[in-house]
Amino acid sequence: NKLNIYSTNDLVEFFPRKYEFFNLKKANHKANNQTITIKAIINSKLELIKSNKTEYIKFQVLNNEKIINVIAFNQNYLLHVLKQNDKVYLKGKYTYYNNQLILNKLIMPNNFMPIKPIYNIENISDTNITNIISNIFNNKLVNINEILPENIITKYNLLNRYDAFYNIHLAQNINNLNAAIKRFKYEEAYLFQKQLLNNVDKKVYRKPKNYNLKLVKKLIDTINFELTNDQKKAVNDIFSDFKQNYISYRLIQGDVGSGKTIVAAIGIYGAITAKEQVALMAPTELLAKQHYNDFNKLFKGFANVELLTSDIKNKNEILSNLKTGKIDLIIGTHALIQDNVEFHNLGLIVIDEQHKFGVNTRKNLINKSLNADLIYLTATPIPRTLAISLFNEAKISTIKSKPQYQKPVYTKVILDKDINIIIEELKKCLNLNQKAYVVVPAIESTHAKYNIENVYELLSKHIDNKYIYAMHGKLKKEEQQIVMEQFSLSSKAILLATTMIEVGINVKSATLMVIFSADYFGLSQLHQLRGRVGRYNLESKCFLITQDEIPERLKIIEKENDGFNLSKYDLKLRGPGNLLGFEQTGMPNFKFLDFVDDYEILYTMRKEIISNNKIWYN
Ligand code: ADP
Ligand code: MG
Repeated sequence: NKLNIYSTNDLVEFFPRKYEFFNLKKANHKANNQTITIKAIINSKLELIKSNKTEYIKFQVLNNEKIINVIAFNQNYLLHVLKQNDKVYLKGKYTYYNNQLILNKLIMPNNFMPIKPIYNIENISDTNITNIISNIFNNKLVNINEILPENIITKYNLLNRYDAFYNIHLAQNINNLNAAIKRFKYEEAYLFQKQLLNNVDKKVYRKPKNYNLKLVKKLIDTINFELTNDQKKAVNDIFSDFKQNYISYRLIQGDVGSGKTIVAAIGIYGAITAKEQVALMAPTELLAKQHYNDFNKLFKGFANVELLTSDIKNKNEILSNLKTGKIDLIIGTHALIQDNVEFHNLGLIVIDEQHKFGVNTRKNLINKSLNADLIYLTATPIPRTLAISLFNEAKISTIKSKPQYQKPVYTKVILDKDINIIIEELKKCLNLNQKAYVVVPAIESTHAKYNIENVYELLSKHIDNKYIYAMHGKLKKEEQQIVMEQFSLSSKAILLATTMIEVGINVKSATLMVIFSADYFGLSQLHQLRGRVGRYNLESKCFLITQDEIPERLKIIEKENDGFNLSKYDLKLRGPGNLLGFEQTGMPNFKFLDFVDDYEILYTMRKEIISNNKIWYN
């Protein structure tokens, strides 16, 4: 019951944690030095051998008409269990030269299974569980209904659900077990895709957006850098969506610092030239404010931009200007899609850092009957092969190339005891008139070893505290923005912060990222944090501080600068729910499917569901 097993069905749905394989073989020269299992008959008395060092049991068995010597350490109970002519299975390491098997496990024939499921249920032996489960199947005490469509089962040569459950527990050979595993992988992929596709809505028609290319080009001319090829491609993708006669949504994925904002900006302006309003949503007010500053500059003389945050002073005026259409672009957080916000003619919604919101946002928008085109920006890129198993291929723009001047961020794991290295690096950074971030997992000492309080103290012992700014969730929104502005504007400074600064923050002269208690953070999060530096042509560094045991993911991030590669690791380490923002949809973690290696199954199941149900998805 501790494991939520109350019925026969519950037990059958409780899958083995792993299997022990008994490699049934003949004891001959081919099996030399291998762990094998033999079927044998006891052919001698059991002798207890005592020497001054060890104690063991010795006996002989007959296997395939050949005598084999068996030695068993620490298993004196065998003396009382076995007698001559007993039939047994023996698992152990066999050496050919002395024709000897060192026993590690004895199994009586009525308990023998070539593949033994291991359940790890406290106080109940695996053999017992297996007996109960075979009883359940033999006496038809379980109800198993098929949930995959017949045509998929046939086409992909899958076991039916009943047989799959049977074989996951009671397979007599590896082929049957593999067939069961395959079936459950398809099942997981199918259910997952079905859930995703359920969230997809019907094609919604609208007029093609009548944007003004001349004006758009004029805006592009004011940008003081050349777009990378991937950026150009993404911009083209957006405009070809505009030309369609139905609402589209597009995922623009690109690593941190790959320049997604400017791509979105060009698209946003395109929609504005088509006399539509645009909403840009960011996951934090800090980022919304930053976007507001940037867009205000970029769109000066082109469009009206306003910021709508929880504590904005002239809220009512902004709301009414939105309603009458005086505002072209409104920037804010989720609050933007709250009930009291009315638009004149909202044509496009851009969601920055989509992975922070989750996949349901579109549904929320539709529920609010905001029928606008949608662009998601995400800095948690997923491998293309995987992306197309989750989204329609045509609807993903990937920005792979980074602005040329960006260099990889030198990354190093530092142990707690070497913290003086960090102090030196911080001093160096300030001497170069550059900026640093120092990230800690908590605000106060009760919550974590390193926190805003004690790290502030530590830093100010060595560094003039006029250079140190602190940023955290206990500050009022206004105060946060003031701190952020002061930090951005000062020539050299350290921003000591919680992970509030994780997403989107873009300060070009920041070149040093120090993360205390780095073992506290996930891979993607660390990569995002690191992405706050190295955003310009300056050499940048990232230090990850941890205790003496270095977790695997810190070693990975030390070596790997590419967000696409990192996301593969992350998918493996944490599963898709966490990474892609499916958590809110109650996405179970897969038991069989490997999100990275099995992308083809995901992809095929997606295609099947779409063609079976004639779902239109965009
Ligand atoms: P992210 O993709 O992480 O949102 P941003 O859009 O904030 O990245 O861009 C990071 C920085 O790179 C910004 O300062 C932006 O102005 C700059 N940038 C973007 N595209 C280019 C480009 N093609 N050439 C040079 N700099 C660029
Ligand atoms: Mg960004």
